[in-house]
Amino acid sequence: MTVLHECLICQRPSEWSKTCEWCQSRIRGALAQLPEQYVYLTMSRQRVQGGGGDGRSPKALHAPVPGRDDVLNLLGPSARQSVTDARDQTGPVPFLAVLESWTEAVTEERRLKPTGKSVTAMTARLTGHLTWICEQPWVADFFEEIRELLTTAQRITMTQPRKELLRGVTCPTCQGLTLVRNVPGDWAAECEMCHVKLNDREYALLVQTQAKALEGNKT
Ligand SMILES: [Zn+2]
Ligand SMILES: [Zn+2]
Repeated sequence: MTVLHECLICQRPSEWSKTCEWCQSRIRGALAQLPEQYVYLTMSRQRVQGGGGDGRSPKALHAPVPGRDDVLNLLGPSARQSVTDARDQTGPVPFLAVLESWTEAVTEERRLKPTGKSVTAMTARLTGHLTWICEQPWVADFFEEIRELLTTAQRITMTQPRKELLRGVTCPTCQGLTLVRNVPGDWAAECEMCHVKLNDREYALLVQTQAKALEGNKT
């Protein structure tokens, strides 16, 4: 018997889980990008704090980039109230704190051996238990926090994904004018409505077919 659930995140019907496949892959994708974003953020912070090593360089070259307070907020203790130890004074806590609280929740509830506190170790644990996470009633909160962490980091590191609407090309599945290309992304085109995904070849073929059909209409 197939029990039809409603996805707790996007409210679409989901056949076998409380989280639909699309949302599961969104979570997996977000988690996969966090270690890289953390490195970018740390580099941004060094740009703010680095005063130039040799002391001879012109000051202007090392002027702090405007708006870099946001980096320090995300990496520093002030952005989150859970200040627990001295490490917070220097350590990049808020980014880690979000990951830490969820990793701890998973570790405790699943009675696992504690994992390392690095971004890589924590995201690996969360990804490893994603199927279980996606069955929990709090999965929507989890998704929100992880996504917010990612988008905040991307905004600061100026690596936000872009979305281009592919004008005039009709989705082969739902017939909507809703095809987009995500950059960076794994697909030449994705539909915003039905989430169909097309690779380079499929998309080129689709464009070709639709262009031909248009020309056919003219004559
Ligand atoms: Zn969903
Ligand atoms: Zn579609």
